[in-house]
Amino acid sequence: MTGMIGQMKSSVHDARSGRILFLSHCLLNQNACVRGLASQPAVIREIVDLALARDVAIVQMQCPEVGYLGSLRWGQVKKMYGNPMFRRHCRRLAEGVCDLVQTYRDNAHRVIGIVLRDGSPTCGLNCSAVEADEQQVWGGMVWNASPLQRFGPTEGVYTEELKRELQQRGLADVSLFALPEVPEAGSFADALHAIEGAIDSAIEAQETA
Ligand code: SF4
Repeated sequence: MTGMIGQMKSSVHDARSGRILFLSHCLLNQNACVRGLASQPAVIREIVDLALARDVAIVQMQCPEVGYLGSLRWGQVKKMYGNPMFRRHCRRLAEGVCDLVQTYRDNAHRVIGIVLRDGSPTCGLNCSAVEADEQQVWGGMVWNASPLQRFGPTEGVYTEELKRELQQRGLADVSLFALPEVPEAGSFADALHAIEGAIDSAIEAQETA
């Protein structure tokens, strides 16, 4: 390990790598997923293995949906979550995340990035679940709901609020990644490869600092 973390000298040395990755909650707790979407029993093992293999610490962000609707909830599309109350909820969570990003960065740690979840109407980065028919007015009982949905090239509600908060604090350079919830939302292998590259770059930068 390098004797320096980030680009600043540390007066006290310990075992820390100084590397941190922020993860969407469900990557470390598949029980948070809408029923039918958990792809592994406990965690998304590949991202945990990748982080631990390179001594990257993990910060688990809160799940906006579970914190708003609870564990027993239906899968929804972005328009349904795009209400002011859910946005405020997401904004508050994003503020807490940015507080952490800021204080670690201010004190010589490398925040490698924030890993979101493509396909989610809340945590999507490159695509989110959207209604099949934008003109459709949603409502009624659950059995009235249209089963049709698709993944549109839009960010989820939490991602929008998080990006806004990062921007306002001058933290827009923090890298954002997304692992897809389902194969239709993107290539898991490609997304993991991008995160791996960012970690390796961070390690290289630490070693040459
Ligand atoms: S994608 Fe986001 S909102 Fe959906 S379960 Fe994961 S953390 Fe919660």
